[in-house]
Amino acid sequence: MRILVTGGAGFLGSHLCDSLIAKGHDVVCLDNYFTGSKSNIAHLIGNPNFELMRWDVIDPFKVEVDRIFNLACPASPIHYQFNPIKTIKTSVMGSINVLGLAKRIKARVFQASTSEIYGDPTEGNHPQVESYWGNVNPIGIRSCYDEGKRCAETLFFDYHRMHGVDIRVVRIFNTYGTRMSPGDGRVVSNFICQALRGDPITIYGDGQQTRSFCYASDLIRGFEKMMDQDEVTGPVNMGNPGEFTILELAETILRITGSKSPILNESLPQDDPKQRRPDISLAMKALDWEPEISLEEGLRETIPYFEGLMKG
Ligand code: NAD
Ligand code: UDP
Repeated sequence: MRILVTGGAGFLGSHLCDSLIAKGHDVVCLDNYFTGSKSNIAHLIGNPNFELMRWDVIDPFKVEVDRIFNLACPASPIHYQFNPIKTIKTSVMGSINVLGLAKRIKARVFQASTSEIYGDPTEGNHPQVESYWGNVNPIGIRSCYDEGKRCAETLFFDYHRMHGVDIRVVRIFNTYGTRMSPGDGRVVSNFICQALRGDPITIYGDGQQTRSFCYASDLIRGFEKMMDQDEVTGPVNMGNPGEFTILELAETILRITGSKSPILNESLPQDDPKQRRPDISLAMKALDWEPEISLEEGLRETIPYFEGLMKG
């Protein structure tokens, strides 16, 4: 198949491109390099099955493909808050563009949605199930991302109901791994880089907020399972159900790296969700998917990648 990956030069997008190429598909990677990097896909340049388009999903585009994976969107709070209007345009106008294209060329189209759909889950909504409508501040500093992604889901389901577009929607919970940018600002990359440099580990708040961390290869396998089946449109949660406090994550990284970095508590950003864990029953039942890589194993794969970057 010929497959378009928007955001293909990013952390997850580049791993997806690799996996699709390895399975013999032709891949068109579209990216504006806002948070992605050519270095993530440098090894694919020159491969006859790989094409690169420098483009912004906000602007309409035409390409003839069988499938589309829509991943274009900055994912880390510092990057999506850098230009919040651009972020929401990327989710909303980007979705309109990929859905219009999918409708015209009759391509199956995948949306990289997010656990941010659930916002800061209220009492009784932990772990998060797909039927939970969420608790999102519509006017806060995270809203450009959360509401943009919520509107994108609305667009996917309206194009599906109105025009029969063949959609697949996955709600991704915190995922980490090689090719994350060291300056990305997300917790796993921050803590690993701080630990390796001997800098203080910056815990926002008291570190008792929780997250569930999925290793990238587990997630990419889930994306492909989702796209390769005909029954479920989604939304389907994908993430690792292991739940850790941010303090536990810091302690684990300090132990594995052997770092002597001190812990530094900083203020908690506005609307930072207190708890986050996916209920993955639907993915297990409908897709026969579940993560295989524990946090410890995933960190042991990821830390040497950051060490390599630091050595230059
Ligand atoms: P990333 O920032 O590494 O990748 C995003 C890619 O999209 C980058 O290559 C960036 O340059 C590109 N991009 C951004 N705006 C664009 C635009 N307007 N036009 C074209 N390209 C654009 O982040 P990631 O972690 O790889 O995330 C990929 C997708 O998965 C995103 O849609 C994100 O919202 C979603 N997601 C990721 C996670 C996670 O934990 N990694 C969690 C939930 C959802
Ligand atoms: N966090 C932290 N220190 C950092 C970066 C993040 O304590 O240097 C916290 C952040 O406040 C949040 C959690 O780690 O509670 C996950 O943050 P991230 O930005 O990775 O993802 P998200 O908040 O979108 O889940």
